[in-house]
Amino acid sequence: MALRQAVRSVARPLAFPSSSTSALLSSSLRRSYATPPVVEEVPKVVVAAPTPLSSSNKFRNFRQTFGRVTLGVFVTAGGGFLLATYLAGSPGEQLPQDPTKKNVVVLGSGWGATAFLKALDTEEYNVTVISPHNYFLYTPLLPSVTVGTLEGRSIIQPTRFITRHKKRKVNVIEAEAKEVDPVNKTVKFVDTSDVVGVVTEKTIPYDYLVYAVGCENQTFGMAGVPKYACFLKELADADKVRTKLMDCIESAAFPGQTESEIDRLMHMVVVGGGPTGVEYAGELHDFLIEDLKKWYPEVADRLRITLVEALPNVLPMFSKKLIEYTESTFSDNKINLMTKTMVKEVNEKHIVVQDANKEIKEIPYGLLVWATGNTTRNITRNLMSKLAEVQTARRGLSVDDNFELLGGPGIFAIGDNAATKYAPTAQVAAQQGTYLAKTLKQLSKRDIAKEELDALRLTQGVAPEAVETAVKKLNKASKIRPFHYSHQGSMAYIGSDKAIADLPIFGSDNLTSVGGQATYWFWRSAYVSNLYSLRNRTLVMADWAKVKVFGRDVSRE
Ligand code: FAD
Ligand code: MG
Repeated sequence: MALRQAVRSVARPLAFPSSSTSALLSSSLRRSYATPPVVEEVPKVVVAAPTPLSSSNKFRNFRQTFGRVTLGVFVTAGGGFLLATYLAGSPGEQLPQDPTKKNVVVLGSGWGATAFLKALDTEEYNVTVISPHNYFLYTPLLPSVTVGTLEGRSIIQPTRFITRHKKRKVNVIEAEAKEVDPVNKTVKFVDTSDVVGVVTEKTIPYDYLVYAVGCENQTFGMAGVPKYACFLKELADADKVRTKLMDCIESAAFPGQTESEIDRLMHMVVVGGGPTGVEYAGELHDFLIEDLKKWYPEVADRLRITLVEALPNVLPMFSKKLIEYTESTFSDNKINLMTKTMVKEVNEKHIVVQDANKEIKEIPYGLLVWATGNTTRNITRNLMSKLAEVQTARRGLSVDDNFELLGGPGIFAIGDNAATKYAPTAQVAAQQGTYLAKTLKQLSKRDIAKEELDALRLTQGVAPEAVETAVKKLNKASKIRPFHYSHQGSMAYIGSDKAIADLPIFGSDNLTSVGGQATYWFWRSAYVSNLYSLRNRTLVMADWAKVKVFGRDVSRE
């Protein structure tokens, strides 16, 4: 160190000549023309003894070290980022499908199916995925897409981006499964997309069927709901809400619009006080405060948000403290909460409700968002009807402890479409998907052990000990561990940069309830880290930054 200082103190004047050095140079040049050269004694270079560092030297050293460390961090992080994106974007060669292996057909590309695909070892199976959507949708961030806080494409991951990284080739088919035959073990599927070819229907066999088609929206049999309301389940729903919301606002701002019509068009009604309805109301409030007031000053103040819920409070799955916190935040944000209120009828421009006092009221609306929960899909009902003796649950498919369908050997039902003791959440579906992948791995080990045992028994002169060992191996491979659900907590965004969370502390069953702005940052980081890929994480963070800098886009597509 001392030596380096000494060298620096000598080297620096050479790099940047000081005034005395240049004076010496110019005087020697002048002299060379005026008088004959005089040989002068070459001055000796004296290396100064190292002196203690002055405070400006210390600062310079600190600055240099800091600069080097920062540069190092940036280069490493940038290199890591580029390497990760390169690897994600350059899938390698895959093994071809093998006719001697068992066929696994996966129905769906949502939380359950995608977690299963991610964890499955494809070495032992030929896999085919069938879903009407050729991507995985990160549903927890869907409410943010309705007002343009996030772009829809930032929270989806194409299924082929996932399957192309598996060891063995996986077939991905964009189609809707229409019928499962649990006796002949086949699935029929149909291309229901807008553009189709000459072949639109096919039936394929399966050895194992992973049934994860989720649920559809509960409408309570009201014909007006699918006709006039917007749902919030698919990506297309969020886009529709965003477009319709801007349409209502533009029509309210139309010159000469009547006062009562402005009130109707600017009334946004949400039915359903679960996390989806609450998060949507919160996002809408942010949009009003942060953007609409700026760009639509003439009508923004007329915007009203009403949330209708049949139960006595919103968010029944959260602790009492957080329910109260949410309700008081909503009251501060002027979001009108109508609890103990039942929707009786949905019309084009108004809904009819029975309020907490049993009074019948008409509520005019511009945009109606319907988020009242799940009901089983037609294909699921159809499958249940084929196994009517054992499939009697109203909520969905009844399964055993390993998620194998009662009455349907080889069919495994996971996620929202299964009637289990667990809540219909992404966490549950994903953990079940991962568990099922491990189960299938175990089943392949069992099959291999059984083949080995059968082969030994057919071979003459095999030592009895060898057969005994093979029997033990088969018994071990036949033991399938039961599913264990690990609850990671519940979170919801409630608007104005506030979130709520019930979190298990250090894996205990007791939940800690937190709410506010710090929780909001926790909510953001938890959701970002849970996103499927680096691509998703980058796009979501870029969207958040974009909205901070430019605000939300209010153009109507
Ligand atoms: P899904 O994820 O719904 O997947 C079903 C799949 O099946 C889809 O890919 C669909 O295209 C496909 N499919 C449909 N019909 C067919 C057919 N006939 N044939 C083949 N495929 C078919 N949970 C949480 O834990 N935390 C949250 O914060 C949270 N927020 C949410 C926010 C919103 C807006 C919504 C809608 C849900 C939220 N959930 C949340 C719930 C969570 O998304 C569901 O519990 C989860 O998606 C269930 O997973 P799944 O695999 O059973 O079904
Ligand atoms: Mg098509």
